[in-house]
Amino acid sequence: MSTTESFVVDVAGPARPAAARPDGLRGAPTRADRDGDPPWLAGLNDAQRRAVSHDDGPLLIVAGAGTGKTATLAARVARLVADGVPAERILLLTFTRRASREMLQRAASMAGAEASRVTGGTFHSVAVRLLHRFGASVGLRPGFTVLDQGDAADLIGVLRAEVTAGSVTARRFPRKETIAAIGSRVVNSQVRLGDVLKAEYPWCLDAAEGVRDVLAGYGARKREHNVVDYDDLLLYWRALVRSEATRDAVRALVDHVLVDEYQDTNAVQADILEGLCGPGAAAADLSVVGDDAQAIYSFRAASVANMLDFPRRFDDATVVTLEENYRSTPEVLDAANAVMADAVTGGEVDGYEKRLRPTRPSGPRPQLWTCADEAAQARAVCDLVLERREEGLDLRSQAVLFRTGHHSDGLELELSRRGVPYVKYGGLKYLEAAHVKDALAMLRILDNPADRLAWERVLDCFDGVGPATRAKVVDALGLDDPQTAAGALGRFLDGAAPFPARARDEVAELVAAFAECRAGSADAEPPPSVQLERLVPFCTQVFARKYRDPAVRVADIEHLATLAAEEPTRSRFLSSVVLDPPVSTGALAGPPHLDDDWLTLSTIHSAKGGEWRAVYVIGAADGNMPSDMAVGDREGMAEERRLLYVALTRARDHLVVTWPQRMYHHRGGLDDRYSYAPLCRFLTPITEHFDERSAGLGDTGGFDADEPVAHDPVAVELDALWEL
Ligand code: ATP
Ligand code: MG
Repeated sequence: MSTTESFVVDVAGPARPAAARPDGLRGAPTRADRDGDPPWLAGLNDAQRRAVSHDDGPLLIVAGAGTGKTATLAARVARLVADGVPAERILLLTFTRRASREMLQRAASMAGAEASRVTGGTFHSVAVRLLHRFGASVGLRPGFTVLDQGDAADLIGVLRAEVTAGSVTARRFPRKETIAAIGSRVVNSQVRLGDVLKAEYPWCLDAAEGVRDVLAGYGARKREHNVVDYDDLLLYWRALVRSEATRDAVRALVDHVLVDEYQDTNAVQADILEGLCGPGAAAADLSVVGDDAQAIYSFRAASVANMLDFPRRFDDATVVTLEENYRSTPEVLDAANAVMADAVTGGEVDGYEKRLRPTRPSGPRPQLWTCADEAAQARAVCDLVLERREEGLDLRSQAVLFRTGHHSDGLELELSRRGVPYVKYGGLKYLEAAHVKDALAMLRILDNPADRLAWERVLDCFDGVGPATRAKVVDALGLDDPQTAAGALGRFLDGAAPFPARARDEVAELVAAFAECRAGSADAEPPPSVQLERLVPFCTQVFARKYRDPAVRVADIEHLATLAAEEPTRSRFLSSVVLDPPVSTGALAGPPHLDDDWLTLSTIHSAKGGEWRAVYVIGAADGNMPSDMAVGDREGMAEERRLLYVALTRARDHLVVTWPQRMYHHRGGLDDRYSYAPLCRFLTPITEHFDERSAGLGDTGGFDADEPVAHDPVAVELDALWEL
């Protein structure tokens, strides 16, 4: 095998400009600056230099927020490339695709464009690329597709219905989402089903056998349809590096593996790294960086244990700690440290010991805003964002962070009203939107004609097709039998399926579109963006009948086509869209143009690793943060605290925390109601680190208000109409 062969089939494209973090290794040169340093060492402190230049076995950098872990890893990539390691033989694993793009862009600015050819991405996206190449050796058929979480739950729902059919206990049987979560937990934590049920889902123990049957059936059904879910991707990758037959071939492709945010990897990911870099011939070099105080993904069975076990798993590991924080002002750090200090007193922390020393000069004190309600909070945050902009902080250096996706609903409305463009990351529903799933299902059929779930979704689009017709069509297309399913698309194009007369026009339109998208051989196929555009007329026809607001939905598909333009092939696009969902662009504000200035809205989970000059953490009311769900569970509470710590440590200069005293709960129907909540319990003891402000308490009366004023749907509708 030649030494320049790529780790994956197709190499990642060139890094694109960073969106959320415009400043790379910038700022005042530190005392470690020396004349004649190569660019990747310039400005680094001694510990960082040691990590960048390290040449001697496994390396773990463990350090607190903002100490330059990610910057050090990027510098290490640059150094390796400059030392002559072929870029495509370096594997950089990050938590999001965005993060790897940003790091490779940094590396390229130090070591030249070559560095942007480094293989970068998430564990899942690299797994997809690897499995397209080696999947057959672990039993995957070519052309497999990746199920997103919603589809996976739907398939489990089908199995659930089969297993509980006719049973009187069906109603009390765990929901499909719960079964999916149980299965995922088992896989990712590598703990047996019985034990997971006992420890985490005791209320499902009565249904243990049924749950087992559903999950076993789910595995079989996925193989039949030639689909894999997220968890399978990691399992198959691990199988590749565990099997004698393939391990050497995979190892032969990679010389260096670098992992950011190691604290949020799980047991299977650690096994994969051991498979690539552990004992045995041709092991790759491994460097990982992480902060156990920022572990926030235990719901995905990520395990801080990976950090703590590193020196045991990887012999002769070097551990480097970093102590100087370069990101935040001392005022911001004080507040963040106070949150963690409380955890230490509370006995919640047992990890690597770290101290954070501020290096930046003093700045403004953080602010804590008590707001009458969510509307007052939204107005206050908008005002502050715009004030900062007046002072010269563009929107891109500001971010609003929240615990869960819907906590920004009120703010999004206010931003739209005032014409402030924003992009929202994480917790997003874009991919879950029915019409987006329709369009993706069409592409999935083109990619994997045996994908029965995708067919069912598309068949449901046609006029006059109900369950009975659908079953007939599925049968006529040969989808019931794995042997014949691969020919389903050919049969559809040949008109072999019995559609009702009402569906004829739509069927003809889709047949024509599919035929053009296929255009003979895979090489001759138009790029994925063109394929999506070709599907737009069919979508327009169907959406007009099927959905409200069809024009907005068609626009979403057109937007999807612009996103698809970033991917070279349809299957790359499909897996990337599932594994790294596009940002929601805020339907009301309209998609910002990429070169415009926009505000970042993000869940805290998705803000991991990022930094902004001004950060607004909203919804810091108890019940939101910590989330109601975590109350009463010690580990859960510790994780909620770490979440708050992650949020606060994103701020460079300005930190604002806001909480609404009164919240409106949408429960649907007559049960909608307001409730009052106190300030987040992690902040209550440390308010002396903040300047306190309030918003809206005077004009709506705060706690003393009479009956709360209900949500005004007419005003919202009218506001949307005033748009030019
Ligand atoms: P997190 O834990 O939040 O992921 P991190 O440890 O990865 O943080 P970085 O994002 O790499 O930290 O760095 C934080 C900031 O400090 C960045 O703006 C980075 O450019 C800057 N920085 C890192 N090292 C130095 C240094 N030696 N001198 C000046 N600035 C630095
Ligand atoms: Mg980082």
